[in-house]
Amino acid sequence: MNPKSMGVVGAGIMGSGIAQVAAQSGLEVVVVDADEKRAKSAVDQIGLALGRLVAKEKISQADRDAAVSRLKVGKGLDDLAVLEFVVEAATERLDVKVDLFAKLDRILAPDVTLASNTSSISITRLGAATKRPDKVIGMHFMNPVPVMKLVEVVRGLATSDATVDEVVGLARRFGKTTVSTKDLPGFLVNRVLMPMINEGIYALMEGLGSPEEIDTAMRLGTNQPMGPLALADLIGLDTCLSIMEVLHTTFGDPKYRPCPILRHYVDAGWHGKKSGRGFYTYQ
Ligand code: NAD
Repeated sequence: MNPKSMGVVGAGIMGSGIAQVAAQSGLEVVVVDADEKRAKSAVDQIGLALGRLVAKEKISQADRDAAVSRLKVGKGLDDLAVLEFVVEAATERLDVKVDLFAKLDRILAPDVTLASNTSSISITRLGAATKRPDKVIGMHFMNPVPVMKLVEVVRGLATSDATVDEVVGLARRFGKTTVSTKDLPGFLVNRVLMPMINEGIYALMEGLGSPEEIDTAMRLGTNQPMGPLALADLIGLDTCLSIMEVLHTTFGDPKYRPCPILRHYVDAGWHGKKSGRGFYTYQ
Protein backbone atom coordinates (compact mmCIF):
# COMPACT_ATOMS: atom_id res chain seq x y z
CA MET A 1 0.00 0.00 0.00
CA ASN A 2 1.12 3.55 -0.67
CA PRO A 3 -0.63 5.26 2.25
CA LYS A 4 -2.31 8.64 1.86
CA SER A 5 -3.03 9.06 5.54
CA MET A 6 -1.17 8.36 8.75
CA GLY A 7 -1.89 8.24 12.45
CA VAL A 8 0.83 9.23 14.92
CA VAL A 9 0.42 7.92 18.48
CA GLY A 10 2.43 9.92 21.01
CA ALA A 11 3.02 13.62 20.46
CA GLY A 12 6.37 14.10 22.22
CA ILE A 13 9.73 14.96 20.69
CA MET A 14 9.57 12.22 18.07
CA GLY A 15 5.84 12.03 17.33
CA SER A 16 5.70 15.72 16.51
CA GLY A 17 8.71 15.44 14.18
CA ILE A 18 7.21 12.42 12.42
CA ALA A 19 3.86 14.21 12.04
CA GLN A 20 5.66 17.20 10.53
CA VAL A 21 7.57 15.28 7.86
CA ALA A 22 4.48 13.21 7.00
CA ALA A 23 2.31 16.32 6.56
CA GLN A 24 5.05 18.01 4.51
CA SER A 25 5.17 14.91 2.31
CA GLY A 26 1.46 15.19 1.49
CA LEU A 27 -0.12 12.70 3.90
CA GLU A 28 -3.22 13.50 5.92
CA VAL A 29 -2.05 13.15 9.52
CA VAL A 30 -3.96 12.62 12.77
CA VAL A 31 -1.95 13.01 16.00
CA VAL A 32 -3.13 11.47 19.27
CA ASP A 33 -1.56 11.44 22.71
CA ALA A 34 -2.66 10.07 26.10
CA ASP A 35 -2.69 13.78 27.04
CA GLU A 36 -4.80 15.55 24.39
CA LYS A 37 -3.22 18.91 25.28
CA ARG A 38 0.18 17.55 24.21
CA ALA A 39 -1.23 16.53 20.82
CA LYS A 40 -2.71 19.99 20.33
CA SER A 41 0.49 21.67 21.44
CA ALA A 42 2.53 19.46 19.06
CA VAL A 43 0.37 20.50 16.09
CA ASP A 44 0.68 24.18 17.12
CA GLN A 45 4.46 23.83 17.45
CA ILE A 46 4.72 22.23 13.99
CA GLY A 47 2.86 25.24 12.55
CA LEU A 48 5.40 27.54 14.21
CA ALA A 49 8.37 25.42 13.09
CA LEU A 50 7.13 25.48 9.49
CA GLY A 51 6.62 29.24 9.82
CA ARG A 52 10.31 29.60 10.74
CA LEU A 53 11.20 27.63 7.59
CA VAL A 54 9.13 30.12 5.56
CA ALA A 55 10.99 33.02 7.22
CA LYS A 56 14.30 31.40 6.24
CA GLU A 57 12.94 30.94 2.68
CA LYS A 58 13.36 27.14 2.91
CA ILE A 59 9.69 26.49 2.07
CA SER A 60 6.92 28.66 0.64
CA GLN A 61 4.01 30.05 2.66
CA ALA A 62 1.64 28.00 0.47
CA ASP A 63 3.53 24.77 1.29
CA ARG A 64 3.47 25.63 4.99
CA ASP A 65 -0.26 26.30 4.94
CA ALA A 66 -0.97 23.11 2.98
CA ALA A 67 1.07 21.00 5.44
CA VAL A 68 -0.69 22.58 8.43
CA SER A 69 -4.11 21.96 6.83
CA ARG A 70 -3.24 18.23 6.63
CA LEU A 71 -2.60 17.99 10.39
CA LYS A 72 -5.42 17.13 12.80
CA VAL A 73 -5.56 16.41 16.51
CA GLY A 74 -7.40 13.20 17.44
CA LYS A 75 -9.18 12.73 20.76
CA GLY A 76 -8.23 9.06 21.07
CA LEU A 77 -7.16 5.93 19.21
CA ASP A 78 -10.65 5.47 17.70
CA ASP A 79 -10.01 8.59 15.60
CA LEU A 80 -7.34 6.61 13.72
CA ALA A 81 -9.81 3.94 12.53
CA VAL A 82 -10.03 5.13 8.91
CA LEU A 83 -6.32 5.82 8.38
CA GLU A 84 -4.02 3.81 6.09
CA PHE A 85 -0.84 3.67 8.21
CA VAL A 86 -0.04 4.18 11.90
CA VAL A 87 3.26 4.90 13.59
CA GLU A 88 3.50 4.64 17.34
CA ALA A 89 5.91 7.04 19.09
CA ALA A 90 4.73 6.80 22.70
CA THR A 91 6.90 6.58 25.82
CA GLU A 92 9.63 3.91 25.66
CA ARG A 93 7.95 1.35 27.94
CA LEU A 94 7.06 -2.20 26.99
CA ASP A 95 3.74 -2.22 28.89
CA VAL A 96 2.65 1.04 27.23
CA LYS A 97 3.51 -0.19 23.73
CA VAL A 98 2.06 -3.71 24.11
CA ASP A 99 -1.21 -2.19 25.33
CA LEU A 100 -1.27 0.31 22.44
CA PHE A 101 -0.54 -2.35 19.80
CA ALA A 102 -3.30 -4.64 21.10
CA LYS A 103 -5.80 -1.74 21.07
CA LEU A 104 -4.73 -0.41 17.67
CA ASP A 105 -5.00 -3.93 16.22
CA ARG A 106 -8.68 -4.02 17.18
CA ILE A 107 -9.37 -0.52 15.81
CA LEU A 108 -7.51 -0.41 12.47
CA ALA A 109 -8.51 -2.12 9.20
CA PRO A 110 -6.74 -5.51 8.85
CA ASP A 111 -4.53 -4.40 5.96
CA VAL A 112 -3.06 -1.39 7.80
CA THR A 113 0.61 -1.47 8.79
CA LEU A 114 1.43 -0.70 12.40
CA ALA A 115 4.94 0.71 12.84
CA SER A 116 6.77 1.52 16.06
CA ASN A 117 9.39 4.20 16.48
CA THR A 118 10.77 2.33 19.49
CA SER A 119 14.51 2.68 20.14
CA SER A 120 15.00 -0.73 21.70
CA ILE A 121 11.83 -2.73 22.37
CA SER A 122 11.31 -5.99 20.48
CA ILE A 123 9.23 -5.58 17.31
CA THR A 124 8.51 -9.32 17.46
CA ARG A 125 7.02 -8.81 20.94
CA LEU A 126 4.85 -5.93 19.70
CA GLY A 127 3.75 -8.00 16.70
CA ALA A 128 2.72 -10.83 19.05
CA ALA A 129 0.34 -8.42 20.81
CA THR A 130 -1.62 -8.19 17.54
CA LYS A 131 -3.32 -10.50 15.04
CA ARG A 132 -1.23 -8.95 12.23
CA PRO A 133 2.42 -9.66 13.18
CA ASP A 134 3.29 -9.66 9.45
CA LYS A 135 2.22 -5.99 9.35
CA VAL A 136 4.13 -4.87 12.45
CA ILE A 137 7.53 -3.26 11.88
CA GLY A 138 10.07 -0.91 13.40
CA MET A 139 10.30 2.49 11.71
CA HIS A 140 12.97 4.16 13.81
CA PHE A 141 13.40 7.83 13.03
CA MET A 142 16.29 9.88 14.41
CA ASN A 143 16.05 13.07 16.46
CA PRO A 144 15.35 15.78 15.26
CA VAL A 145 13.18 14.01 12.68
CA PRO A 146 12.89 16.85 10.11
CA VAL A 147 16.71 17.17 10.02
CA MET A 148 18.11 13.65 10.40
CA LYS A 149 18.35 11.63 7.21
CA LEU A 150 18.21 8.06 8.57
CA VAL A 151 15.28 5.75 9.22
CA GLU A 152 16.23 2.36 10.64
CA VAL A 153 13.80 -0.29 9.38
CA VAL A 154 13.49 -3.15 11.86
CA ARG A 155 12.08 -6.45 10.80
CA GLY A 156 10.38 -8.59 13.47
CA LEU A 157 10.38 -12.37 13.19
CA ALA A 158 7.02 -12.37 11.38
CA THR A 159 7.27 -9.07 9.44
CA SER A 160 6.50 -9.64 5.74
CA ASP A 161 8.57 -8.46 2.76
CA ALA A 162 5.57 -6.39 1.62
CA THR A 163 5.56 -4.51 4.94
CA VAL A 164 9.30 -3.84 4.70
CA ASP A 165 8.83 -2.54 1.13
CA GLU A 166 5.97 -0.30 2.20
CA VAL A 167 7.97 1.28 5.02
CA VAL A 168 11.10 1.73 2.90
CA GLY A 169 8.93 3.44 0.24
CA LEU A 170 7.28 5.69 2.82
CA ALA A 171 10.62 6.68 4.38
CA ARG A 172 11.86 7.60 0.88
CA ARG A 173 8.78 9.77 0.34
CA PHE A 174 9.86 11.57 3.53
CA GLY A 175 13.29 12.15 1.94
CA LYS A 176 15.01 9.65 4.25
CA THR A 177 17.64 7.00 3.66
CA THR A 178 16.88 3.61 5.19
CA VAL A 179 19.03 0.93 6.75
CA SER A 180 17.33 -2.40 7.41
CA THR A 181 18.34 -4.25 10.52
CA LYS A 182 17.46 -7.15 12.80
CA ASP A 183 15.15 -7.18 15.78
CA LEU A 184 17.80 -7.37 18.48
CA PRO A 185 17.81 -4.94 21.44
CA GLY A 186 18.82 -1.41 20.46
CA PHE A 187 18.80 -2.51 16.80
CA LEU A 188 21.82 -0.99 15.09
CA VAL A 189 22.10 2.71 15.99
CA ASN A 190 21.35 2.48 19.71
CA ARG A 191 23.34 -0.72 20.14
CA VAL A 192 26.40 1.37 19.32
CA LEU A 193 25.30 4.83 20.47
CA MET A 194 23.79 4.15 23.91
CA PRO A 195 26.78 2.33 25.44
CA MET A 196 28.89 5.32 24.31
CA ILE A 197 26.51 7.79 25.96
CA ASN A 198 26.35 5.61 29.10
CA GLU A 199 30.16 5.52 29.21
CA GLY A 200 30.21 9.32 28.91
CA ILE A 201 27.98 9.43 32.01
CA TYR A 202 30.34 7.05 33.84
CA ALA A 203 33.19 9.40 32.89
CA LEU A 204 31.26 12.20 34.60
CA MET A 205 30.57 10.06 37.68
CA GLU A 206 34.24 9.09 37.95
CA GLY A 207 35.30 12.74 37.70
CA LEU A 208 37.18 12.43 34.41
CA GLY A 209 35.79 15.80 33.42
CA SER A 210 32.88 18.21 33.68
CA PRO A 211 29.96 17.78 31.21
CA GLU A 212 31.49 20.56 29.10
CA GLU A 213 34.93 18.91 29.12
CA ILE A 214 33.57 15.46 28.26
CA ASP A 215 31.46 16.85 25.42
CA THR A 216 34.26 19.07 24.09
CA ALA A 217 36.70 16.14 24.16
CA MET A 218 34.33 13.90 22.23
CA ARG A 219 33.26 16.59 19.75
CA LEU A 220 36.75 17.75 18.87
CA GLY A 221 38.52 14.46 19.51
CA THR A 222 36.20 12.22 17.48
CA ASN A 223 34.58 14.76 15.15
CA GLN A 224 31.03 14.29 16.44
CA PRO A 225 28.63 17.24 16.09
CA MET A 226 27.45 16.83 19.70
CA GLY A 227 29.10 15.35 22.77
CA PRO A 228 27.48 12.37 24.53
CA LEU A 229 26.00 14.30 27.45
CA ALA A 230 24.42 17.03 25.31
CA LEU A 231 23.08 14.30 23.03
CA ALA A 232 21.65 12.39 26.02
CA ASP A 233 19.85 15.59 27.08
CA LEU A 234 18.46 15.98 23.55
CA ILE A 235 17.26 12.37 23.37
CA GLY A 236 15.75 12.47 26.88
CA LEU A 237 17.41 10.85 29.91
CA ASP A 238 14.31 8.73 30.62
CA THR A 239 14.51 7.34 27.08
CA CYS A 240 18.28 6.70 27.43
CA LEU A 241 17.70 4.83 30.71
CA SER A 242 14.91 2.71 29.20
CA ILE A 243 17.13 1.73 26.28
CA MET A 244 20.06 0.79 28.57
CA GLU A 245 17.69 -1.27 30.72
CA VAL A 246 16.45 -3.18 27.66
CA LEU A 247 20.06 -3.86 26.55
CA HIS A 248 21.06 -4.88 30.08
CA THR A 249 18.13 -7.17 30.87
CA THR A 250 17.91 -8.78 27.42
CA PHE A 251 21.61 -9.53 26.91
CA GLY A 252 22.32 -10.01 30.64
CA ASP A 253 25.78 -8.55 30.04
CA PRO A 254 27.13 -6.19 32.77
CA LYS A 255 28.74 -4.01 30.12
CA TYR A 256 25.25 -2.55 29.52
CA ARG A 257 24.54 -1.62 33.17
CA PRO A 258 22.99 1.87 33.27
CA CYS A 259 25.18 4.41 35.07
CA PRO A 260 23.77 5.19 38.57
CA ILE A 261 23.86 8.94 37.84
CA LEU A 262 21.56 8.40 34.87
CA ARG A 263 19.06 6.66 37.15
CA HIS A 264 19.39 9.43 39.77
CA TYR A 265 18.69 12.16 37.27
CA VAL A 266 15.63 10.34 35.92
CA ASP A 267 14.38 9.77 39.49
CA ALA A 268 14.74 13.52 40.07
CA GLY A 269 12.64 14.28 36.99
CA TRP A 270 15.71 15.68 35.20
CA HIS A 271 14.85 14.27 31.79
CA GLY A 272 17.10 16.56 29.76
CA LYS A 273 16.14 19.32 27.38
CA LYS A 274 12.42 18.47 27.35
CA SER A 275 12.17 18.98 31.15
CA GLY A 276 14.52 21.98 31.26
CA ARG A 277 17.27 20.15 33.15
CA GLY A 278 19.60 17.23 32.55
CA PHE A 279 23.39 17.40 32.39
CA TYR A 280 22.83 21.01 31.34
CA THR A 281 20.05 23.48 32.14
CA TYR A 282 17.74 24.90 29.46
CA GLN A 283 15.44 27.93 29.32
P1 NAD B 1 8.49 11.88 24.78
O1 NAD B 1 8.61 11.62 26.23
O2 NAD B 1 8.95 13.20 24.24
O3 NAD B 1 6.98 11.67 24.28
C1 NAD B 1 6.25 10.51 24.55
C2 NAD B 1 4.77 10.85 24.40
O4 NAD B 1 4.01 9.64 24.47
C3 NAD B 1 4.25 11.77 25.52
O5 NAD B 1 3.62 12.91 24.94
C4 NAD B 1 3.24 10.89 26.26
O6 NAD B 1 2.14 11.62 26.77
C5 NAD B 1 2.81 9.94 25.14
N1 NAD B 1 2.19 8.70 25.61
C6 NAD B 1 2.56 7.92 26.66
N2 NAD B 1 1.71 6.88 26.75
C7 NAD B 1 0.82 7.00 25.74
C8 NAD B 1 -0.30 6.24 25.32
N3 NAD B 1 -0.66 5.13 25.95
N4 NAD B 1 -1.01 6.67 24.24
C9 NAD B 1 -0.66 7.79 23.59
N5 NAD B 1 0.40 8.57 23.96
C10 NAD B 1 1.12 8.16 25.01
O7 NAD B 1 9.28 10.69 24.06
P2 NAD B 1 10.01 10.66 22.64
O8 NAD B 1 11.44 11.07 22.83
O9 NAD B 1 9.17 11.36 21.62
O10 NAD B 1 10.05 9.09 22.36
C11 NAD B 1 8.94 8.41 21.79
C12 NAD B 1 9.43 7.11 21.19
O11 NAD B 1 10.43 7.39 20.20
C13 NAD B 1 10.10 6.16 22.20
O12 NAD B 1 9.79 4.84 21.85
C14 NAD B 1 11.57 6.44 21.99
O13 NAD B 1 12.39 5.36 22.36
C15 NAD B 1 11.62 6.68 20.50
N6 NAD B 1 12.76 7.46 20.01
C16 NAD B 1 13.21 8.55 20.70
C17 NAD B 1 14.29 9.28 20.20
C18 NAD B 1 14.79 10.50 20.92
O14 NAD B 1 15.87 10.99 20.57
N7 NAD B 1 14.06 11.03 21.89
C19 NAD B 1 14.89 8.90 18.99
C20 NAD B 1 14.38 7.81 18.29
C21 NAD B 1 13.32 7.09 18.81
